[in-house]
Amino acid sequence: MRRIAKLDHQYVWHPFTQMRDWLKQEPIVITKGKGATLTAADGRDYLDANSSIWTNLHGHNHPRINRAIRAQLDKIAHSSALGFANEPASLLAEKLVQAANPKLPRARFKNPRLQKVFFSDDGSTAMEAAMKLSYEFTRRSGLSKRPRFLSLEGAYHGDTVGAVSAGHIDLFHSAFSQMLFKTDKVMAPYCYRCPHNQAQPERADARNYRKCNWECVDKVESQFAKRAKSTRPITAMIVEPRVQGAAGVIPQPAGWLKRVAEIARGHGAQLIADEVMTGFGRTGGRLPGRNPQPGPLFASHVEGVQPDFLCVAKGLTGGYTPQAATLTTQEVFDVFLGEYSEFKSFFHGHSFTGNQIGSAAGIASMELLNTQTSIRARERLERQFSKELQSLWSQENVGDVRQVGLLAGIELVKDWQTRKPFELADKAGIRVCDAMAARGVLTRPIGNVIMLMPPYCTTAKQLSKMVAALRESIDEIAGR
Ligand code: PMP
Repeated sequence: MRRIAKLDHQYVWHPFTQMRDWLKQEPIVITKGKGATLTAADGRDYLDANSSIWTNLHGHNHPRINRAIRAQLDKIAHSSALGFANEPASLLAEKLVQAANPKLPRARFKNPRLQKVFFSDDGSTAMEAAMKLSYEFTRRSGLSKRPRFLSLEGAYHGDTVGAVSAGHIDLFHSAFSQMLFKTDKVMAPYCYRCPHNQAQPERADARNYRKCNWECVDKVESQFAKRAKSTRPITAMIVEPRVQGAAGVIPQPAGWLKRVAEIARGHGAQLIADEVMTGFGRTGGRLPGRNPQPGPLFASHVEGVQPDFLCVAKGLTGGYTPQAATLTTQEVFDVFLGEYSEFKSFFHGHSFTGNQIGSAAGIASMELLNTQTSIRARERLERQFSKELQSLWSQENVGDVRQVGLLAGIELVKDWQTRKPFELADKAGIRVCDAMAARGVLTRPIGNVIMLMPPYCTTAKQLSKMVAALRESIDEIAGR
């Protein structure tokens, strides 16, 4: 075993990993990256088919982001946002506010304007900050003494205690239940396995052939209505717009988010959009309107929805360094204003808040995203992705193929005609991903769902290789 692999085995504890299994085999040690390719210590190249756990946008070692970081490094790497301003963080905040307020079609309730940016370190802290801000806003505005949050079944919003409280994945969260505060949960649209979907399985995305009466939307309405009668109404709803990632890549049928946002607003609740995974163009699509515009940066906007809080991380720096932001309204900001002696400040923050290196990378990444070259490349990739994924429908063990823009989840099943799932203990997802790695393509399963999320620079050939590796690997574990 190589020295670095040995050191890893001796000292490093990996996240979301059964370390007993990890210690059984030599890990792939990544030493370099270029574009969509990662290179390992043994010289082998791999395609980064989940954009390094959903963070990378433009590819690794991007010359423009590298230049921005180097230029910033020659000035300063970090100074504190507790007491001082800095250039890259201020410029990045301006860019985020510009991107977060596109022209959207008129909505039933007036769209809020997002104009304040609270920086933090990662997706969990972006969510934590949004929840605390919403909580305090609600209390201080006299709307409720004990704010209540609603989130979706299967929700995952990070691993800090507040974010876990809004999460509903028992496998991850139940062990910590005594540490958490209570939140409400409501059915998430999961057309493929929805008990209200009367359609027999077809070889197509279940969103497109479902037979239902939007019971999932009714459930949201009835949950709000039920709580409205109590002493603790729901004051904020938390959603991953368009698609829940860690829940198993579960997309919402078009129109769901808009309806649900109207229900929430109709009950006077705030909307917290977790765009940690979906942000920065990942869900593709177009901005709605008479002349749908290409290149939307946020999933909420594709559905014509503007949240009260927009949480971003992962891709904020193009996937280079940990950095996050929670965007919100002037109204929320104002509630925290007062005389010093009133102690109304938002007592929350992190040492690396507004870090210059990450902010410099973020500015470069956002400039890249807005170029016509990137917008066209994303549209091309989305179209090709859709074509390539069609080939998976011929696989007996593929139950559902769920593409949302530049990401897709492929649900493996024992039998597509009955939707019979593999047992988790069968490790079907893990075995498929191991077989893909042997073919030079890296991704990670979520249970029985294989996630494909190519960096935006992925070439046509590389994309074909990612999908072919998945197809062949499914055949391999099925023994065909
Ligand atoms: N929200 C969503 C939707 C996520 O996918 C994740 C991470 N996978 C998080 C929050 C937490 O982000 P982080 O791991 O950066 O804390």
